[in-house]
Amino acid sequence: MSSNIVSIRGAITANNDEQSIAKASELLMRRIFFKNGLTNADVVNTMISTTADLTAFYPARALREVGYSMPLFSCLEPNIDGALGHCIRFLVTARSDNPVSNVYIGAARALRKDLTDYYAIALDGPSGAGKSTVAKLVAKELGITYLDTGALYRALGLKVLSEKLPTTDEAKVKACIEHVNVSIEYADGVQKVLLDGEDVSASIRTPEVSMAASNVSALPYVRAKLLSIQREIAHASSVILDGRDIGTVVLPDAEFKFFLTASPEIRARRRFDELKAKGQNVIYEDVLADVNARDRNDSGRKIAPLKMSYDAVKIDSDEMSAHDVAMSIINDVKEVVQ
Ligand code: C5P
Repeated sequence: MSSNIVSIRGAITANNDEQSIAKASELLMRRIFFKNGLTNADVVNTMISTTADLTAFYPARALREVGYSMPLFSCLEPNIDGALGHCIRFLVTARSDNPVSNVYIGAARALRKDLTDYYAIALDGPSGAGKSTVAKLVAKELGITYLDTGALYRALGLKVLSEKLPTTDEAKVKACIEHVNVSIEYADGVQKVLLDGEDVSASIRTPEVSMAASNVSALPYVRAKLLSIQREIAHASSVILDGRDIGTVVLPDAEFKFFLTASPEIRARRRFDELKAKGQNVIYEDVLADVNARDRNDSGRKIAPLKMSYDAVKIDSDEMSAHDVAMSIINDVKEVVQ
């Protein structure tokens, strides 16, 4: 254990109700632990202050309830004109050899613009659950970046298909995509996927490419190649990423995690309507068979299977519109960060 003692600062805002204060406190400490590589054993103590307008709950109690074991000290700050209200501040004293990473989340970022922190929303779920429609609505309303991670897998699937190679043969797939450059560009907030500089955003949306993407995404080499691209984008600004393993693998420290589901029939119907609207000649039964096959592929694979993260909020969208789902996510996020 290190003998070097560091002080880590953090702040976040919350509404003056028990749930919001508990959520914000837990989020702030989770983020401080993650960014500084801390465990409970590293922490000497934590001091917490709240502005005088936050009286509904003790942040210290929230931390204790979720398992933080360090000595905690809480106090109320005086009312100061013009100061940021509804604010919770942490000072964490810990043993660490890492450079200190202070954490200022949401409106509290204004306190230390030099130490601002981004937040991430992980939106996982099976194909056709409506993730991309929801993610776009959320990104627009919150003014954050949207990354459709499936498009990255689709781009590589397309590449392997266009070379007429088997999409399940790791050695051949690896040789084919090793030197391929997949990148993302945003034009007026709309994501474009580039394969060696060529915009393939439209050609990756066919059922053949869907299946190819599902196959190549089961290969460890493919996942490793795409992991760094996803993290790079996620760490450059506040984001919402949709995919299968965002909350479990890509961004396990995401501040917000949601898992969106719907029955296979409803998902197939939505995908069918979407493809029809794009003028593609498809049959509902084929789309349903494709949804079921991809579910089996995505859930059954050894690495990064489709799985709900233990700390994700599950949303069943059978009876909800994309707008309803988006609003429930937006409300949850706004409660904490804006
Ligand atoms: O979401 P979308 O249907 O565009 O994804 C295409 C395929 O890419 C999925 O069936 C899934 O197998 C794979 N994928 C993945 N991990 C992600 C996103 C997509 O394995 N994060």
